Amino acid sequence: MLSFTSQSKINSFSAKAVFLDRDGTIIRDVDYPKDPKQVELLPGTIGALRSLMDFDYKLVVISNQSGIGRGIITVEEMNQVNAKLISILDKHEIYFDSIYYCPHAPAEQCNCRKPSPEMILNAAEELNINLALSFMVGDKFSDIESGKRAGCGTILLKNEGLFEWDITPDFVASNWAEVLTFILRNETQS
Ligand SMILES: [Mg+2]
Ligand SMILES: [Zn+2]
Repeated sequence: MLSFTSQSKINSFSAKAVFLDRDGTIIRDVDYPKDPKQVELLPGTIGALRSLMDFDYKLVVISNQSGIGRGIITVEEMNQVNAKLISILDKHEIYFDSIYYCPHAPAEQCNCRKPSPEMILNAAEELNINLALSFMVGDKFSDIESGKRAGCGTILLKNEGLFEWDITPDFVASNWAEVLTFILRNETQS
């Protein structure tokens, strides 16, 4: 948990951000993608991310990549997948401010794997992000829990494979257009 001091410090930050899960949120979830050819953007992603940038949101990827810790993919393979995604978005002048990933398998019991808020909190410190002005978007309840624990608004982008969890997102979206509409309607006035 954050100490009072660090929480106050983070609240003084000024930038706003949308934290983005990668697999199943930006690109199709194909279970531990290791080949750039597997990168397929989900519908509506480009328009929504471009609009969020136009409204001054930083875009920060927050991704569990346990395939690394499980020995299924290498860091290099993950980087190649990210590079492909970055090159596609680049053509639309969409840029991530940073990509954070947890490489650990669940059994390693690390501090960074979502639903831990640690990656989001680190991003806030490093990128001057005010979490109260920011949102977490993901397709799993672990994304929602990490966003809530970090103090962000939370949006579940509905996808397959969801299971019951004792946590309620601020909004459940069926597609990226609904994500965008919700964020712009719920901008916290600073
Ligand atoms: Mg996901
Ligand atoms: Zn980790």
